[in-house]
Amino acid sequence: MEAIVKLQDIALNMHLEPAEETNFNPAPEVAPCGQVVTPRNSPGSPPAKMRRSAVAKQEALGISHAVMPGGKTMPMLKTLLTSACERNCYYCPFRAGRNYRRHTFQPEELAKAFMQLYRAGMVEGLFLSSGIIKGSVATQDRLLETAEILRQKYQFKGYLHLKVMPGAEKAQLRQAMTLADRLSVNLEAPNDRRLALLAPKKVFLEELVRPLQLIEQIRQEEPGHLGWNGRWPSTVSQFVVGAVGETDVEILSTTEYLTKQLHLKRVYFSPFSPIHDTPLENQPAENPMRKVRLYQTSFLFRDYDFGLEEMPFDQQGNLPLNIDPKLAWAEANLQHDPVELNRAERQDLLRVPGIGPKHSHTILNARRKGRLSELNHLRQLGIATKRLAPYVLLDGKRPSYQLPLKL
Ligand code: SF4
Repeated sequence: MEAIVKLQDIALNMHLEPAEETNFNPAPEVAPCGQVVTPRNSPGSPPAKMRRSAVAKQEALGISHAVMPGGKTMPMLKTLLTSACERNCYYCPFRAGRNYRRHTFQPEELAKAFMQLYRAGMVEGLFLSSGIIKGSVATQDRLLETAEILRQKYQFKGYLHLKVMPGAEKAQLRQAMTLADRLSVNLEAPNDRRLALLAPKKVFLEELVRPLQLIEQIRQEEPGHLGWNGRWPSTVSQFVVGAVGETDVEILSTTEYLTKQLHLKRVYFSPFSPIHDTPLENQPAENPMRKVRLYQTSFLFRDYDFGLEEMPFDQQGNLPLNIDPKLAWAEANLQHDPVELNRAERQDLLRVPGIGPKHSHTILNARRKGRLSELNHLRQLGIATKRLAPYVLLDGKRPSYQLPLKL
């Protein structure tokens, strides 16, 4: 069968594959596994006319537009080495026993098909995953073989995001780190108890967490210049949210570990959406707002030095959906103890709503040149003041402000 037909068939379910950025369909702004989705009318999006024809063709093949770190938009082929799988994860369209047409590529065949698209200017990057056949280790070997063919035989220097199979061996991980720009291991659930309800043939610690630990170990023990392009690849993971009753505390305690201990670049939250002919087909879809609050909190861990215990969980262990978690923290902690912008350390500035890593840097720089004594001084620095005003002091005084919206 022609490679193009296989890609098209696999693409029919790839938007459901819990692994990667999505396409031009109305979609989450941040995709499950590593890239941010291009919003419909963002500056990086192709024009509307092009979307209707060319994009329809791209989508049919599994090509989507991802926004890379730094903001560049990249057409990326998202596909599988095989859509057959011997495992039976309850949420997955590729699970064993589900009735639909499966396809398998040989490594050379897939590499060649990708390079044809690449040379035609249709794609710049590849996300490559696979169903599991003859065990994880053999499947990982085939993924590695494909990556090697691309890098060595075809001299492909572009972006490669390679999926790590559950239980991949250390030597395989190390090899993957010399070939890929990004690696991902999807945990799917925050602990072994929840995973048993979602993917009963996966083993949480040994098969999913362990590879991420080994990748971090290699990063710490060996010099980065051994990695692809002279640096070790970034790692990401993903959770399916809302399928098996897990709480935000469960998800975020594992997220905090992944972010702070294993230095994952990003953890993705994919709200559960039922798929026909799977054991969870009658389960309701998760509220997408839950994903927003989880992302906000994960960024507070990664970039703002907040800890799990500081988050505003309710008695059931979930975040309120109606307020940004940083704003909720500030309401509880800064309203009566505002931050003096002329004296605060960087980590205290970062706790103020409306001040992120960039603005904290701007404020620290500006303080070296003079006092910040009114909101206008902040506006002149390009800092919006509506959100921060209730929680700061300027030269010992509270600035006058209007109440902000709690979004
Ligand atoms: S291992 Fe699970 S998630 Fe991965 S393709 Fe197979 S059934 Fe789907």
